[in-house]
Amino acid sequence: MLNIGDVVYRATQEQTEKWITCPYCVGQRYLTVIFGDGEKATIKCNNCSIGFDPSSGRVKTYEYESKVEAVEIDSISRGVDGSFEYSGNKTGSVNAYSYVRLEPGEYFDTKEEAEMRVLVLTELKREQEASKHTRKTDESKTWRWHATSYRRQIIDAKRTLEYATECLDYATKMQAKHEKKRA
Ligand SMILES: [Zn+2]
Repeated sequence: MLNIGDVVYRATQEQTEKWITCPYCVGQRYLTVIFGDGEKATIKCNNCSIGFDPSSGRVKTYEYESKVEAVEIDSISRGVDGSFEYSGNKTGSVNAYSYVRLEPGEYFDTKEEAEMRVLVLTELKREQEASKHTRKTDESKTWRWHATSYRRQIIDAKRTLEYATECLDYATKMQAKHEKKRA
């Protein structure tokens, strides 16, 4: 059990927002699709666009900094399960953000133990980021599907246009048939 005035070491991770050039369109805001027959098309980059918004060429990422903070206990309370809950100030700091509640498993008696925990936190975050990348690879399949679907819609629309034009020009068609018969 800890007492008021004890100093413990807290393993923590700070997240900062960072905008980077979209790795998919390299900031161009569109992707070039080449179909099997060599035809090229450009589609909106979905990686740097949110919903129906246009692509921005940039994506938001997070940078994580893991570190050890020394915290001086100044409040002890009893949780509903009977366990002790500790809060305190980060030593050497007195601003409004320096007061923290200590989460079980995230604070230690020695700096070395907290540093070990920081290594684990960093590794966990690295794995999370890597799995995000795998999901993105699956997404690119959807983009290809969209590109193929748009091209099919154009082909279908062209056919419809030809057919409708013919239907509205029945006289010419009839005449052509008639001339064919004569020849
Ligand atoms: Zn993009």
